[in-house]
Amino acid sequence: MHIYQISNNDKFDIKKLDPNDTKLWKKDKKAAKDELRDLRKKLIDLQRTLYAQHKHKILIVLQAMDAGGKDGTIKSIFKGVNPQGVRVAGFKVPTQEEREHDYLWRIHKRTPRNGEIVIFNRSHYEDVLVVRVHQLVPEKVWKKRYDHIIRFERLLSEEGTTILKFFLNISQEEQKERFLERIEKPEKQWKFNPNDLEERKLWEDYMQAYQDAISKTSTAYAPWFVIPANRNWYRDYVITSIIVETMENLKMHYPNPVENIEQFKDAII
Ligand code: ADP
Repeated sequence: MHIYQISNNDKFDIKKLDPNDTKLWKKDKKAAKDELRDLRKKLIDLQRTLYAQHKHKILIVLQAMDAGGKDGTIKSIFKGVNPQGVRVAGFKVPTQEEREHDYLWRIHKRTPRNGEIVIFNRSHYEDVLVVRVHQLVPEKVWKKRYDHIIRFERLLSEEGTTILKFFLNISQEEQKERFLERIEKPEKQWKFNPNDLEERKLWEDYMQAYQDAISKTSTAYAPWFVIPANRNWYRDYVITSIIVETMENLKMHYPNPVENIEQFKDAII
């Protein structure tokens, strides 16, 4: 099992996991960037085969606190990947129509089809995170959702979806730095939302909600990884390597060509 993978019902303490940890990388930061470039090349090849074979589906769930680096992770990992086979699905505050359905309705519609990689920028986990922290539904309602989620993900998995879930673990101090940067740097100011400061006050509640969600829903078929995310280069390196390894294990191949393909050379007029 990967060192950052959480096992089911693991009584881990999220506050004890170090967001600055870089223990999988023994060399310097520059070398990590080179390694990431090589990993990206592998990912590009794997995705090409995934798309051509049209058999497997990959779902990547990204969750983090505000300024946790979800957008940056998506940008970095999928640099150079054929956009034809990759899709990002972001989940915001549910619309009226979405609220009138069960909370998984909007999620299921955006899961990957054969040959596709879909990245969830936020996900159904919001329904046991923000919804719990703000008591948007009563406790007896959100408590049942862990079980729904486990079953829902099992359905996806049994129908051919490979699922990887990442929590980008930044420290509260790092979040402060990133908020300050959003205020100071003109090109980042559009990202600043004063409401994020209110959410920051609820840090402890969020950590508790994350800890419960992650430990209750990390399964063999839809594992959670808690990624040390204070350092972007390390976060990108670790996540890309997990995705590459998982895709390599699918043993994908290009579809067989039509029979006697060579003979068609002469048929081109
Ligand atoms: P992001 O932070 O992902 O870049 P936004 O700043 O628009 O994008 O934030 C989206 C907001 O939608 C977040 O505050 C998130 O908590 C909220 N949200 C997502 N899903 C739900 C949900 N199911 N119920 C309530 N709020 C949700």
